[in-house]
Amino acid sequence: MSTALRVTDLAKSYGGKRAVDGISFDVRAGELYALLGPNGAGKTTTLRMVAGLLAADAGSISVFDVDARADPLAAKQMIAWLPDEPLLYDKLTAWEYLEFVAGLWGVPPARARAEAERLLKILTLWDNRNDRCETFSRGMKQKAVLAGALLHQPKLLMLDEPLTGLDAAASRLVKDMIRERVDQGAGVILTTHILEVAERMADRIGIIKDGKLLIEGSLEELRTQAGAQGQSLEDVFLSLTAQPAATRETADAQ
Ligand code: ATP
Repeated sequence: MSTALRVTDLAKSYGGKRAVDGISFDVRAGELYALLGPNGAGKTTTLRMVAGLLAADAGSISVFDVDARADPLAAKQMIAWLPDEPLLYDKLTAWEYLEFVAGLWGVPPARARAEAERLLKILTLWDNRNDRCETFSRGMKQKAVLAGALLHQPKLLMLDEPLTGLDAAASRLVKDMIRERVDQGAGVILTTHILEVAERMADRIGIIKDGKLLIEGSLEELRTQAGAQGQSLEDVFLSLTAQPAATRETADAQ
């Protein structure tokens, strides 16, 4: 299995404070990797560096063996990035937005139209294709941005909180689409605070805190490493990342 993403000793500080502190991990092609961690752990900062939106202070990023720091354009050609806040061009309709995105990625127009239609239909936005994005609910915007991210058949898909704000039906659709891309051989890395999603969907899981990777592996491997046989991912996650037990008991009692 080839390596979709290899991150080695990646680091980033903001104003002297380490947000990402020497993280290393791999995402294989045909694998869904869930990057988990409490608020402020460094997940978004890590993904933004891989996407080339933020300069790393140190470390290396390789996307299908392309050095993303040395050749960001070649790496970006293979990457789709879904930010945690859906950013759209408000005055464009959903259809115009997808045409625009297809143009950016150089997708041939006929293929782009067919794929845009397929994605909008799956994501139940087809009837809204001629509505301006500014009229969309948050969940609809999220779906439109996802359609844009999938349009050019990226080999590495990075999804920051892809299910936030989606209703149950949309969430199921998006999970199915993510799984489809994994089965087709894409590498997918996603962040989520919905641990049941990671538990059910991820092939491997990495848990980070304070910018450092605490543990990594399949759920079974995490349980073994954490000495938590039979426990849920939530139990494993909290035992590794939560505040000291005394504080937690106080919080639980409230
Ligand atoms: P969440 O789960 O809350 O989205 P996260 O794991 O994605 O969190 P990051 O957004 O990567 O965390 O933030 C990591 C650290 O970097 C935090 O301490 C945060 O305050 C800091 N940070 C993030 N962006 C900036 C910025 N633009 N300027 C200064 N500090 C920042």
